[in-house]
Amino acid sequence: MIRTDERYTTAITTDNLRMDTREHASIADVDVLTAAAWAPARMGAALLRLASEYDSAARAGHGTRMDAAMFVGKLRTLPEVRIQIAMQLAAWKVDDSHEAALRILAWWLHKVCGKCHGRGYDVVPGTARLSAKSCRSCDGSGESRIPCGEPGKRMVNYLDDCVHHARQSIRKGLGVMMGR
Ligand SMILES: [Zn+2]
Repeated sequence: MIRTDERYTTAITTDNLRMDTREHASIADVDVLTAAAWAPARMGAALLRLASEYDSAARAGHGTRMDAAMFVGKLRTLPEVRIQIAMQLAAWKVDDSHEAALRILAWWLHKVCGKCHGRGYDVVPGTARLSAKSCRSCDGSGESRIPCGEPGKRMVNYLDDCVHHARQSIRKGLGVMMGR
């Protein structure tokens, strides 16, 4: 019987080999080939850390939207989280899972629709006023579309679940510390 983490490892190895030739992936990526998938609480904790790194980076960049490629060198927690997500996407048979993982993470960190900037309505041309027309780009939701179709949506749900787990375990941990 093949263990689950071995299956992930095979998937991610194939993906990384492709990455190596294309983006000169660092040697550090090789280390994770033997890593088993994280538990949701650990993933959630890493995501919370990543979100706060993103917030600081965005503040330093005067709050402008950071594009996915800019994340790569700036967020310390990004590579390990990206690998985790890529492994899962590969298990779901998503093509180019390493790239897809980055796109999904970029969305998760900054979901605001680039067209209406989250307001949900078009701006009246030449003014700062919002029109009554819903933004066509996001259908008025104010959020850009989740990349990578169904697996993307599934992954985003999973990420939100993980964050929920992490918050719960942080609360429990605090409870223990306070003797409750
Ligand atoms: Zn929009």
